[in-house]
Amino acid sequence: MSAKSVASVLHHSSHSGTARLVLIGIAWHMSETGHAGAWPSIKRLAVYSGVSERQVIRALAALEESGELDVDRHKGESYGGHRTNRYWINIPCPSDCEGGMYHRNFGDNVPMFEVVDNFDTRDIQGQIR
Ligand SMILES: [Zn+2]
Repeated sequence: MSAKSVASVLHHSSHSGTARLVLIGIAWHMSETGHAGAWPSIKRLAVYSGVSERQVIRALAALEESGELDVDRHKGESYGGHRTNRYWINIPCPSDCEGGMYHRNFGDNVPMFEVVDNFDTRDIQGQIR
């Protein structure tokens, strides 16, 4: 399971709808480094995405066409004698993205926590300290 892969899809995939859901499903199965790829079955991706297996196959073609997904057909691990496809997600961060889990833009300058400057300093008796 790779939250890192899921985050990169959530932030940078150009796809919407079924293709995006399928890609998130694949990202969920990705190993932490991503080097080994992921090999969820078409059936499982259909369950994740709430669509038919045919729609998943169509989405995979669109994802592959866009370059966001590399597919090695029938090179996945074997489950009960049936070999699934093996997938690699290929979504580089744009140059202004700092990467990491949150994929913030450098320009955003988002603080890690909110600075509260109108904090009410009265204590519970209503006295100003
Ligand atoms: Zn990023």
